[in-house]
Amino acid sequence: MIISRRSFLTKSAMLATLASLPAPIRGFGKSLNGLNFTPIRRGVGIFESRGGTIGWLVRPEALVVVDSQYPESAAVCLDGLKERSGRTIDLLINTHHHGDHTAGNAVLGADATHILAHANVPELQRRAAEKNDSLGAQKYADVTFEEIWEESIGDENIRISYFGAGHTSGDAIIHFQEADVVHMGDLVFNHRPAFIDLASGAETRNWIALLERAYKEFTDNTIFIFGHGNPTHGVLGTRDDLLAMADYFVALRQTVSDGIRDGKTSDEIAAAGLEGFDSYKLNGSSDGIAGNLKVVYEEVTGTVE
Ligand SMILES: [Zn+2]
Repeated sequence: MIISRRSFLTKSAMLATLASLPAPIRGFGKSLNGLNFTPIRRGVGIFESRGGTIGWLVRPEALVVVDSQYPESAAVCLDGLKERSGRTIDLLINTHHHGDHTAGNAVLGADATHILAHANVPELQRRAAEKNDSLGAQKYADVTFEEIWEESIGDENIRISYFGAGHTSGDAIIHFQEADVVHMGDLVFNHRPAFIDLASGAETRNWIALLERAYKEFTDNTIFIFGHGNPTHGVLGTRDDLLAMADYFVALRQTVSDGIRDGKTSDEIAAAGLEGFDSYKLNGSSDGIAGNLKVVYEEVTGTVE
């Protein structure tokens, strides 16, 4: 019952919030040299190309970027930012270490005074690069934080929090407080199956707790940026989308634990899938959900079948 209530709230609240954005701002995005820049509120916006959603803050005395995608799209993003700001980048923030959020650090980071990330990120990034044979292409955060990092840049106050392991063991939540816009990184895959990176410390139980904590910390006024979204729901939303994501994980964990109780194998649990959660079936396929069920089985039992 909770699941359907939250799903309903998610949709109606998001539509209400997004509809409240001024029409000229909503339509402005694609017109800037054809680049995918979308202003959101008070100088904060997003850039969408290949990889995780980039967030940006452009104010007279501040240029801040969240995540860097890949070198090619980072270069396009940097060009677009330079047309909107005469500043060098005051701060590049990485929401976490994954390549689709940090591979462009070499480009955007070269223009940035500092790169900031959670304290676990540089080592996670280095280990991943070692596996991918891409150590030479990495640019790492030179400023890190453990739980909270807060600073004013220009007339915006930025508060960055770490709520414990979720998608990885180094996910930052970035709140542009004056704009009241939050970048959640990959802590939210908006209405789509998630990448649960067990090798990098992902924990679905704490991921649920963390989303519920974030729901309480922010308000209905807060606009959220997500690392990835499905074609219908996109990468912007409200705090109700955090609960929708939490509900999805609750259902995954419950289904896996029921399956184990009934003596089912990982494959059998995955094949049975989840009831509901139609928005998580990309192109009508249940493969992503099945994949998530297998990873949660692996997480819960400590075994891969
Ligand atoms: Zn990720």
